[in-house]
Amino acid sequence: MERNLRARLDEVEGRLERACRRAGRLRSEITLVAVTKTVPAKVAALLPALGQLDLGESRPQELWKKAAALPGNVRWHLVGHLQRNKIDKTLPITHLIHSIDSVRLLQAIETEAAAQDRQVDVLLEVNASHEPQKHGFEPEQLPAMLAELDKLKHVGIRGLMTMAALEADAEECRPTFTALRELRDRFRPQCPPPHALNELSMGMSNDFEVAVEEGATLVRLGTVLFG
Ligand SMILES: *Cc1c(COP(=O)(O)O)cnc(C)c1O
Repeated sequence: MERNLRARLDEVEGRLERACRRAGRLRSEITLVAVTKTVPAKVAALLPALGQLDLGESRPQELWKKAAALPGNVRWHLVGHLQRNKIDKTLPITHLIHSIDSVRLLQAIETEAAAQDRQVDVLLEVNASHEPQKHGFEPEQLPAMLAELDKLKHVGIRGLMTMAALEADAEECRPTFTALRELRDRFRPQCPPPHALNELSMGMSNDFEVAVEEGATLVRLGTVLFG
């Protein structure tokens, strides 16, 4: 299993490097988040020793469970929906929450982060593909959102996240990724410091190279690493 994982990480690394070269980007601009939701903690536990310290989960309870079983140097990313009653246990162990999908959730995180006296980094999930059934903010909601950010003292907005539609051909995801980058570039000047729209979390197993070409700074990979 460990040899297999090492080989898959190496292969992904090569694909990331080639995508960077095509796009004239540095590999160091991109964080690979290994999404461990389909594997047990004992498989996830092989990753830190292979140098893979950024791990992601889509469900808070599973993140708590794996965080308790793995070394403390892992940086945990929550990539799926966070229910408000799970905020208190999630904040102390999470490096970055990718999936802020409502103002109510943002306010609840601010309240809990203040109570815990901690700073929390988050991304705003955007429905950049305009699919009706998707989580996340509509692009049109962003200006009003950004105007509210002054009130947040314990939550730092770090960028935007999106999920592309599942397409047979990764090229079909490109317009979604381009749209997210353009939203970030357009709204970055309106984002009140210390908030900053820098990060772009986009790209999964079937489309990450296209996402890197379009400016992804975080790619979230599961299947391509774990099968
Ligand atoms: C599961 C998941 C991923 C990883 O998806 P793969 O296609 O398996 O790489 C990425 N992002 C989110 C939000 C997920 O839920």
